[in-house]
Amino acid sequence: MTELLAPAGNLEKLKIAVHYGADAVYFGGKEFSLRAQAGNFSDSEQKEAVDFCHDHGAKAYVTVNVFAHNADMRRVPDYIAWLYEIGVDALIISDPGIFRTAKKVAPEIPIHVSTQANTTNVESALFWKEAGAVRVNLARELGIKEIRKFSEAGIDTEVFVHGALCISYSGRCMLSLYMTGRDANMGACAHPCRYRYALQEEKRPGIYFPVEEDSRGVYIFNSRDLCLINRLPELVTAGVSSLKIEGRMKGIFYVAGVVRTYRAALDYVLDHMNREENADIKMPEQFMNELKPFGSRGYTENFFDGPPDSTDMLYEGGCADQTWSPAAVVVRGGKPPMLRVGHILRTGDRLEYMEKGLGITPFRISAIYDENNRKTDQALGGETVLVHTEPELDMEPWAVIRRLQAKKAESSR
Ligand code: SF4
Repeated sequence: MTELLAPAGNLEKLKIAVHYGADAVYFGGKEFSLRAQAGNFSDSEQKEAVDFCHDHGAKAYVTVNVFAHNADMRRVPDYIAWLYEIGVDALIISDPGIFRTAKKVAPEIPIHVSTQANTTNVESALFWKEAGAVRVNLARELGIKEIRKFSEAGIDTEVFVHGALCISYSGRCMLSLYMTGRDANMGACAHPCRYRYALQEEKRPGIYFPVEEDSRGVYIFNSRDLCLINRLPELVTAGVSSLKIEGRMKGIFYVAGVVRTYRAALDYVLDHMNREENADIKMPEQFMNELKPFGSRGYTENFFDGPPDSTDMLYEGGCADQTWSPAAVVVRGGKPPMLRVGHILRTGDRLEYMEKGLGITPFRISAIYDENNRKTDQALGGETVLVHTEPELDMEPWAVIRRLQAKKAESSR
């Protein structure tokens, strides 16, 4: 079975991803993991994350994928030995030194080669396999014809299907370090490739000449986001083992919406394949429509059919409008459910419960009670409250509740 692999920037996002159908999640500890801004997990959180995954039939992969320097390496053996003790299902590694250390310290832990290793050919993948890796996360710069070759060579592959793209080879980029002091290769990218740029003549400091492609300015490096939802049948047929979603720094609404859509789409593909072997499966438009609110820069299929061109960049601006915003997360199911409020909730609010699959259930808040069971008219972001709804709903823990954004709500009235 093809695995759906989801990002987890914190414990709550991990639980949401598993709730919405991820077969496996990946996350990082406070050290040795890229995505330093993703709110990486403390030791106790990593332990809780692994236990939660295993209790819910999912796998937990831990990223140890920084480009380590000698000073970093001193603490790596103890960390990997500890990850083995808490039962992680695989380590995601890019640095050969960390790989070698893991093989010495905990040879039983499966190792997945990170996309940061930029594996673009079968010989490289065989190198990793012979060294003891069980899976290779292929570079994003490969098309479907090349991806197929890895499966034919007996390599267990993981392929990115959704999320932000670098304009360099998967994070091998110094732009952020030069401009902001934040090193992409240590997981701290500030995404300056998506900034708005202007022109400055060297003898006129502080005077910025606008470079205008249109009224919004110029965004010279700004790639659209990857989306391969319509290409899942080809990826599954190509023998890809794991479909990976990018986005450890994204919010809960992205995790819920993107994971549940890919879960539904992958189930659709697998179901059709089981019933009509080798059928030419066409993906219903509904899947792509579900993902549109999350593609803040528009979507591209990147290298899937061949190298991308200027149409895969977004020159018009840095982001598009979002239709929905997250309102709350269900932290305890049942009737009434307990919610952690994302933004303010008020009695009378009309919201939508995001079901598993693609379903949505609209409802109205009829009453709110605080943690001491006192009735209140509103709850603020971060508070935990009991909520009565019309109609009465049996909400599941770690489901997400969304709200139509005010601007959109008004224009749609
Ligand atoms: S600046 Fe852009 S291209 Fe460079 S690492 Fe960051 S996201 Fe990738």
